[in-house]
Amino acid sequence: MYGVVVCPRCKRAKGVDLKQKTTTCSCGFEIRVVPARVRARAETARELVALVGRVSAEMAGGTEAYRRAQAPIRRKRSRDVHVRVIGIAAKARDRAGRVRAAAIELTRELEVFSIADWDRVLAGLGIPQPEEALATLVRDNAVFEPKAGFYRSVILSP
Ligand SMILES: [Zn+2]
Repeated sequence: MYGVVVCPRCKRAKGVDLKQKTTTCSCGFEIRVVPARVRARAETARELVALVGRVSAEMAGGTEAYRRAQAPIRRKRSRDVHVRVIGIAAKARDRAGRVRAAAIELTRELEVFSIADWDRVLAGLGIPQPEEALATLVRDNAVFEPKAGFYRSVILSP
């Protein structure tokens, strides 16, 4: 059985043998192959090629139905993610707790987050020197950098 997954980082569609646990995107990101992420399935490698093309077209805004279905997700990613992360992280008791919660929630929402995401959230929390706060998390092994410029929290609950 084959399937099509979409890279969380660059949004390109990629065909994969569903027996694999991970696959590396052409952008270098390692995509975990989990059922929730499989956009389409094919019995043969040959069907898979056509399917990857279809999903790519859909990702590029191909069909109207697809755009309608995806609209809430796009909105969620582009506008509300930082607001939601700030709202959750702000509830932590102290600065260290808010910083940790920000990393956890960003990872939950985005899979990997960039410095720009991080800066926006920490600014929203009123925490100065965001890059220093991130460097501290990396030093403490609470956050790692799976790919240059993209970060992930090691733990996903506070
Ligand atoms: Zn990619």
